[in-house]
Amino acid sequence: MFCNQCEQTAKGTGCTQIGVCGKQPDVAALQDLLIYACQGLSVVAFEAAKKGIQDKDTDLFIYKAVFSTLTNVNFDAARFVPLINQAVELRKCMTARVGSLGVISDCDCLKFTPAADIAGLVAQGEAHAINAVDPNADIQSLKQTVLYGIKGVAAYADHAALLGQYDGSVAAYIYEGLASALRTDLDLGAWVDLAMRCGKANLKAMELLDAANTSAYGHPVPTAVPLGHRKGKCILVSGHDLKDLETLLKQTEGKGIDIYTHGEMLPCHGYPKLKAYKHFFGHYGTAWQNQIKEFAAFPGAVLMTTNCIQKPAASYLPNIFTTGLVGWPGAVHVGNEDFSAVIKRALELPGFTDDVEGVSVNVGFARNTVMGVAGTVIDAVKAGKIRHFFLVGGCDGAKPGRNYYTEFVEKAPKDTIILTLACGKFRFFDKSLGDIGGIPRLLDVGQCNDAYSAIQIALALAGAFNCGVNELPLSLILSWYEQKAVAILLTLLSLGIKNIRLGPSLPAFITPNVLDFLVKTFDIKPITTPDEDLKAILG
Ligand code: SF4
Ligand code: SF4
Repeated sequence: MFCNQCEQTAKGTGCTQIGVCGKQPDVAALQDLLIYACQGLSVVAFEAAKKGIQDKDTDLFIYKAVFSTLTNVNFDAARFVPLINQAVELRKCMTARVGSLGVISDCDCLKFTPAADIAGLVAQGEAHAINAVDPNADIQSLKQTVLYGIKGVAAYADHAALLGQYDGSVAAYIYEGLASALRTDLDLGAWVDLAMRCGKANLKAMELLDAANTSAYGHPVPTAVPLGHRKGKCILVSGHDLKDLETLLKQTEGKGIDIYTHGEMLPCHGYPKLKAYKHFFGHYGTAWQNQIKEFAAFPGAVLMTTNCIQKPAASYLPNIFTTGLVGWPGAVHVGNEDFSAVIKRALELPGFTDDVEGVSVNVGFARNTVMGVAGTVIDAVKAGKIRHFFLVGGCDGAKPGRNYYTEFVEKAPKDTIILTLACGKFRFFDKSLGDIGGIPRLLDVGQCNDAYSAIQIALALAGAFNCGVNELPLSLILSWYEQKAVAILLTLLSLGIKNIRLGPSLPAFITPNVLDFLVKTFDIKPITTPDEDLKAILG
């Protein structure tokens, strides 16, 4: 196997025996084969789009199929088989609709027939490894950047589609990008263009997701979330999916079970229509990479929605349930939004046996809230009370070096504001940083899925100060881990945002030449130390 799509890849170069994430070689090969099957479908769908043919069900499929290959989503080999077969069936249906395919009709991917069993599929997957698609190292690097970015785009588009928000332009880009990765005639400039358009497609996907969440559940409002617990039966919800949470809240109403969030579900407490449920109690635990310790200690059932799942320890495997695209062999998968098995398990388990108050943390500082106090913020900047804004966020992870972000926030001067989002916030989310004239110094914008909200805040500030985002007293200090982060980074670059500091390490799939291009064009920088970076930014 070879996989280098995430930040924790082995030795900073690639996982070759087994994934650091726990991914087995057969799953790695099946994921690559699913991407190859989706590329065949994309070649046809891209041609179809030129003839004005687009099929929404095919678009929704491509989102799910590609999202399934994202880091920490699905480790269950058997679940990839129907997806591979379906990609081929959809390719055949679309081919029949399109008729003549023109110049690319001799592509091998259009003749691909899946093997009859998993062993055969794995062998086919090994022959179509995602890391071996171009002999030119720099083009290979950009191809992987685009392919991994597309995985992130598909994830956001799928999240949005679950709540009814869909735009065919996102799928159209995915088809073009996946189909283009099969070509060997595109030069570096064409690949840079595809990477920037990946960022733009992702902005559209995130805009759809923002509309999906806020139209379904209202704009987040500032909300104090208890980190303690209360006596009683309990279910913990992790992952990213608001609709699954709402469904569970409805199905547990009146059953004497409290619902707690874990990881990226924390910001859900700020949504008016979710916080209205009396048994939606508080937050438990921190980021995804701590789930083995935290889930083992949780005295109830655990529902894992989409990424990021880790190999469950035997001690809590009977308590963990997966839903949506997430999967782990041996964990019960609920595929039909009927969470009665989760509820039954929660009622069997002891639940919390006492009340522990604990501290609380504040969420709900998404674009609507922050823009609602824009006048106060602008006055504070003009009066010199706010010197600088930092966006410190992104993915968390297990590798050493991530305490940089904790230290950075601790050392940021008291006249600076920290905006944060995604699970990187758990490095400092419970710190009391005080306020500046009533504006909290630590503002939780939301999940990684809410990066759109942070972008809108930056654009609104730039508008208010009549300058570009790069002229604002704003610095982006980002941490990355998986492919949603690649998509977000491409979005920021496609918007022309410069001077991003990125860590804890740079992607293994970026070659020195591509890095040199990014540095020269976007002034992107690796993080150094909090002291050095603060000095460089603030002088
Ligand atoms: S997803 Fe990351 S940790 Fe898992 S196999 Fe790939 S590079 Fe390794
Ligand atoms: S921010 Fe990234 S690493 Fe963290 S839970 Fe979300 S998808 Fe996973």
